[in-house]
Amino acid sequence: MTPEEFRRHGHALIDWLADHQASLPERPVQAPSRPGELRAALPQTPPETSEPFEQVIADLDRLIVPHLSFFQHPRFFGYFPANALPAGVLGDLVSTALGVIGLSWQSSPALTELEEVVTDWMRQMTGLSSAWQGVIGDTASTGTLVALISARERATDYALAQGGLQAEAAPLTVYVSSGSHSSVEKGALLAGIGRDHIRLVPTDAAHAMRADALAELVAADLAAGLRPMAVVATTGTTATTALDPIAAIAEVTSRHGIWLHVDAAMAGSAMILPECRWMWQGIEAADSLVFNPHKWLGVPFDCSLYYVRDPQHLVRVMSTNPSYLQSSVDEEVRNLRDWGIPLGRRFRALKLWFVIREQGVAGLQARLRRDLANAQALARLVADTPDWRVLAPVPLQTVCVRHEPPGLTGEALDRHTRAWAEAVNRSGAAYLTPAMVDGRWLVRVSIGAPGTELADVTATFAAMRHEAEIALSG
Ligand code: PLP
Repeated sequence: MTPEEFRRHGHALIDWLADHQASLPERPVQAPSRPGELRAALPQTPPETSEPFEQVIADLDRLIVPHLSFFQHPRFFGYFPANALPAGVLGDLVSTALGVIGLSWQSSPALTELEEVVTDWMRQMTGLSSAWQGVIGDTASTGTLVALISARERATDYALAQGGLQAEAAPLTVYVSSGSHSSVEKGALLAGIGRDHIRLVPTDAAHAMRADALAELVAADLAAGLRPMAVVATTGTTATTALDPIAAIAEVTSRHGIWLHVDAAMAGSAMILPECRWMWQGIEAADSLVFNPHKWLGVPFDCSLYYVRDPQHLVRVMSTNPSYLQSSVDEEVRNLRDWGIPLGRRFRALKLWFVIREQGVAGLQARLRRDLANAQALARLVADTPDWRVLAPVPLQTVCVRHEPPGLTGEALDRHTRAWAEAVNRSGAAYLTPAMVDGRWLVRVSIGAPGTELADVTATFAAMRHEAEIALSG
């Protein structure tokens, strides 16, 4: 592709994306695809010779778009938001097109230094003290894995430099709650802790970790000769956005020198609102923290921030220093390969920088406040409707609901819940995710796609009621 062709196709693609964005409200939110449908429509072998690029773009409409579920749709209420604001899309485009990779500071100084600056902007925006330093990674799963490895190495006085876990005399234990994301258990398993040594701390009526129960579990493990290594607390759990009490948990971790990692993958974005910061009160006592601007904040996936209070420890655990990556300025600069697992680093800071500058902090705050208000409005609407219940507190933008007609309980209620939620999704009118909490299915309405307004929320509740009535009579 010549530079002129690149310019022409690039313009055509941006036009295509702008048209696509504008067309979203008319499209079904969930892809109406059957398994294998796209695979069958695609050639099974690659083209031997070059195809016209216009044809490739045309095939986006013909083949790809009909098989997408649209996270950017104003009636997308699934999972958690994963917003791709246009400024972030353009930042990602620039990053990819520049094609630079951060192997070291020297390999592209702007990549490292912009990352240092925007992670510090985000620190300020979320009200964290200057004791924290951050780095951009791919996902919260990776951030939590790095946290647990860091915790393991602190607890074992750098066992990795000696015999590793295999030379440890006493097993290490990790504490999570039933509301923790599956990535937390996965991180603990990958860090070598073993399922037998992952403790599930009981939760309270609001689905938050009970600090008193944590203290009891830690005491019992210590008495049994085990070594409590890390607690992972969540600010905004995936199923119900429950808020683990960080300050009370930190009292237990600091008493015993246990690493405290906070998973605020979703709720971290809310901390740009001063009125939300009570939700992670005590955060300054944590050792590490992860949150995802690629969720609600609006930076296109992937962009996850990992903050630590002791970067020297992180670097000691993560650094490797092969000769081919050394440079004469290493003493003066940050080499971000030593701040995490991968060597190669995308220029993710660009999309975060673009979004913050294009929106301004005030613009980002206004959208998040809109979504919080819409969640409260939906919660009121549900609570005021006969036979409908809100099943968990609504501190953020996710409302957990159930239609509970008289006489329907247990598995029959579960079948009904899943039936109407699937019917809403199948209809294309909106997209919701059911989840199991306390052994029963409920439906999460997770508000916060970029274009979602109150009218989308109320229309979706109308669709939910409609499908629930049909499921009941059917
Ligand atoms: N933690 C929480 C609380 C989440 O809700 C999620 C995903 O929704 C994750 C972690 C995992 O995020 P990621 O996909 O960035 O690994």
